Amino acid sequence: MHLRRRLVLLTLLVAGLAGPVASPLWGWGFPAHQRINGRAVELLPGPLGEYFMAHRNWLVSLAVDADRRKSYSPEERPSHYIDFEYYGSGPYDSLPHQRRDAEEKFGRENLPKWGTLPWHVTGLTRSLSQAMRAGEWERVVVLSADLGHFIGDGHQPLHTTVNYDGKDSGNDGIHVMFETLMVNHYMQRYRPADLKIIEIKHLDEAVFSWLIEAHGLLDHLLEADTKARESLSPKQQGALIVRFDTDPATLPRDYLDDLYAGAGQLAWRQMDLAAIRLASLWHWAWLEAGSPAPPS
Ligand SMILES: [Zn+2]
Repeated sequence: MHLRRRLVLLTLLVAGLAGPVASPLWGWGFPAHQRINGRAVELLPGPLGEYFMAHRNWLVSLAVDADRRKSYSPEERPSHYIDFEYYGSGPYDSLPHQRRDAEEKFGRENLPKWGTLPWHVTGLTRSLSQAMRAGEWERVVVLSADLGHFIGDGHQPLHTTVNYDGKDSGNDGIHVMFETLMVNHYMQRYRPADLKIIEIKHLDEAVFSWLIEAHGLLDHLLEADTKARESLSPKQQGALIVRFDTDPATLPRDYLDDLYAGAGQLAWRQMDLAAIRLASLWHWAWLEAGSPAPPS
């Protein structure tokens, strides 16, 4: 079947299974994931860049399917986060880069609870490379879009911690507030940086270092939220535990502005980095596959 037609069917199938709106998403909002994938396509050079540009709409719309899948496939969830604290203490340089070794060290049953995001990203990148080598270009588009989703999640600091919703630090509700309400509300102010793709020498090292770097931004993010809620009463603070589709107009006055003042640049920087690193992973997979010519 023609690639375009198969992708239409795939998208309809996924959307149909997920229902019209997924429950709380625990990932950047849909617009942020789509911006990351779309920007990565623009930054990707060479013949692969041309091919991806011709399929940009698919790479953008499929960026959020991984979150849709979570609503009917619970075993998908651990791929979207890693609670680094369970795996030791910073800088986490003794964390095994191979999943098998991590299972041996920490217990196989614990990984699905503590999150498997970095191993998922490296595994997916290698699968992408195999699909390129095999000339399975339909699969290349789907895997590339999916990889964008997980790289996006890995650059959201709250996807790298046991304190993912701020409960341990008096920042209850920060997860959806930051990644969805704040980012969506101010998205028109985002000016994507013009970055060049980077050469990845060691896939596992690179991916782990990016996620550990995101984890290192947690204090900054939580402090921005603490400062933003300083002048709020306990009742107003209670109103900060929201759904992803909450109307920002219902939030306590000035809170979102103050959060953006403290954490807005962090969000845009992480989206920029996610986009350029995604393009770099696509490029790495293509080189590893022997730089196959995409179909014209
Ligand atoms: Zn996700």
